[in-house]
Amino acid sequence: MRADRSTRLDRLIGARGAKKFADQLGLVTAGDLLGYFPRRYMARGELTPIRELPLDEDVTLLAQVVSSSSRRMATRKGSITEVLVSDRPGQTDGPSTLSLTFFNGYKAAKQLTHGVVAMFSGRVSVYRGRLQLTNPIYDLLDPEELDPEATLRLAGRPLPVYPATASVPSWTIAKAVGTLLGQLDLASLPEALPASIREKYRLPPVADAYRMIHEPESDAAWRAAQKRFRFEEALVLQTALARRRAQHALLPSRPSPARRGGLLDAFDAGLPFELTAGQRDVGDLLARELAAGHPMNRLLQGEVGSGKTVVALRAMLQVVDDGGQAALLAPTEVLAAQHYSSIRATLGPLVRDGLLGGKEDLGVEVVLLTGSQSAGEKKRSLLAAASGQAGIVVGTHALLSEHVQFADLGLVVVDEQHRFGVEQRDALRAKSLATPHLLVMTATPIPRTVAMTVFGDLETSVLRELPKGRSPIATHTVGLVENPSWERRIWQRAREEVDAGRQVYVVCPTIGAGAGGEGDAGDDVIDALDAATWGGTALAAPAPPELQPASVSDVVEQLASEPALDGVKVGMLHGRLDTDVKSAAMRAFANGETGVLVATTVVEVGVDVPNATLMVILDADRFGIAQLHQLRGRVGRGGHAGTCLLVTRLEPGHPSRERLAAVAASTDGFELAQKDLEFRREGDILGASQSGRRSTLRLLRVLRDGDVISSAREDALEIVADDPDLERHPKLASAIEDYLDPEREVFLERG
Ligand code: ADP
Ligand code: MG
Repeated sequence: MRADRSTRLDRLIGARGAKKFADQLGLVTAGDLLGYFPRRYMARGELTPIRELPLDEDVTLLAQVVSSSSRRMATRKGSITEVLVSDRPGQTDGPSTLSLTFFNGYKAAKQLTHGVVAMFSGRVSVYRGRLQLTNPIYDLLDPEELDPEATLRLAGRPLPVYPATASVPSWTIAKAVGTLLGQLDLASLPEALPASIREKYRLPPVADAYRMIHEPESDAAWRAAQKRFRFEEALVLQTALARRRAQHALLPSRPSPARRGGLLDAFDAGLPFELTAGQRDVGDLLARELAAGHPMNRLLQGEVGSGKTVVALRAMLQVVDDGGQAALLAPTEVLAAQHYSSIRATLGPLVRDGLLGGKEDLGVEVVLLTGSQSAGEKKRSLLAAASGQAGIVVGTHALLSEHVQFADLGLVVVDEQHRFGVEQRDALRAKSLATPHLLVMTATPIPRTVAMTVFGDLETSVLRELPKGRSPIATHTVGLVENPSWERRIWQRAREEVDAGRQVYVVCPTIGAGAGGEGDAGDDVIDALDAATWGGTALAAPAPPELQPASVSDVVEQLASEPALDGVKVGMLHGRLDTDVKSAAMRAFANGETGVLVATTVVEVGVDVPNATLMVILDADRFGIAQLHQLRGRVGRGGHAGTCLLVTRLEPGHPSRERLAAVAASTDGFELAQKDLEFRREGDILGASQSGRRSTLRLLRVLRDGDVISSAREDALEIVADDPDLERHPKLASAIEDYLDPEREVFLERG
């Protein structure tokens, strides 16, 4: 039988095997399996001589299980599984055996039974006179690997190790791949890489590469194959993005040249400060792009407080001056409402409500549109947007819904990109005949290669310089495990700030039960950055479950009887308070009535109090790097030096404390963003932000492969400049189709 990429796996490995492959690995077709690459490779051959293992070093060895037993622990909860392995089948004792200890190793107890051969990795120690590994990681292997004949035949060939599950071990996958390679006409596989590019980087052709990655004859072979597939991935993605940009650049859009004597001029004349050089440069660039007949498509990066909103507002006014409308999308209702009121406040006398002001007056109507508004409010806003009466419409995802109409939408500004995928941007763009200009703002500094990958269809600008009058912030990690007495000291520090006429934020991870909501800050900004940006995988290692995170309501109660804060007014702020209670709390803190504000991460973006100098973040290990960095940006804004205390109850050495150390060690947002990436599962970057589905990145790693991505981007630009519709690159074009829409592919094949 001959197979091609669309052949279903049941025809190759039988219905039962195919079901397992589908359920456990998500592999349905021959093409899926062909693209399922080994995770690593091992030297093939005999079992590793155990007596020669070095002590106190990380080792990887091949061994066979002799016996296994589990028991409950006497002094603690949980169980211990002890597995004895040997390098000589049949040998059960002596220097050729090694003892493996697993704490709560339920899976190990099930899998590592007598006779099983596996690869183990761990650090060798001696316990009661016997060599042992504690909680080693392992991969199950095919017992046939030990067959002397096979060993001879395959000697010297690296052994591929596939990402496997308990019931579909690595060797089962290898066998299925072997069957597949025997029946597939590799020469018929489409070659997505142009020959010139293969030559330039010395990449093997596709047919060879598949064999080299699955059944390598040498380490050099799989390395060359990986290099090829990595580059292919980068090129496919970058070509897709380059094409997208080129196509967008051709669309007609509404040119909105700057007009003298309009709202923008009036706004500039009334600005209480001077624009920074960066704001001016970006502003000029936006002004030019808005005036062009093709859509602007730009990402604006800048830390919190770098003045992005002012830049965006000026762009909106240019469009409104020309008779168009601008929409501002925020990721949450809270943020949308805040933007709405801060834009109105910033515009001051330039805001016109309804038609009362008379047509001849210079002004713009600004409306808010969110899901939680009353039907009446919503209707008014919808009408104002559809009639063109509203020049600026601020809202959440609600703006994306089908029944929202604009009279003449010229510019879409998206704040905090991460919740808005490519499709959502398209949905909004579809709301007008001409393609609106698009400005995406993000306060999360994005490393260059990530920007090239995730936001590769946007041009980028950066506001690096903060407005004058910002002071550096000193950040310290406060570990309460090693220094319990520091807890008292924190509140004394707070007292000192208040006595000096300054103010203090205390940020908690949760709201607390007494506040009408249990647990999380929910729709607050808490989830807007880390979780949404990165698919919710921000935390490297969870805190122990018995450590309940600090809650706003508990801390407010605790501080009421804290001697150091005797006589200090403590305020409270979180997303579940009624709107008027919330604004009262913000006002009281802003005008200095309350000295200490206990809050969730709403303060991350919501409140701007230049007099605040100390930020205490409780259980700081619950937050991601981006969030911590943003939070501390709230202090030291008024010319007084700011301090941020990252308080944690985790043991020293807990992985999550590395994030705190990173934030304490650097105030450079870009450096932190890079660190942040290193702590995350990279595969989620693409998936989460582009469409919410799982990443399709296979070998490419955004961080590690920055160079590959850069080269591929250059090649992609050349290809697209030369052949915009990829007419002369049909195989690359279809690789793009496959890559960008795996769901559709699966769907078609099921249909
Ligand atoms: P971002 O949106 O980047 O977080 P904003 O535009 O909200 O920043 O600006 C933060 C604060 O700084 C606002 O109060 C704004 O009025 C003020 N601001 C913006 N630009 C300047 C400037 N050039 N000089 C002084 N203050 C500025
Ligand atoms: Mg902002």
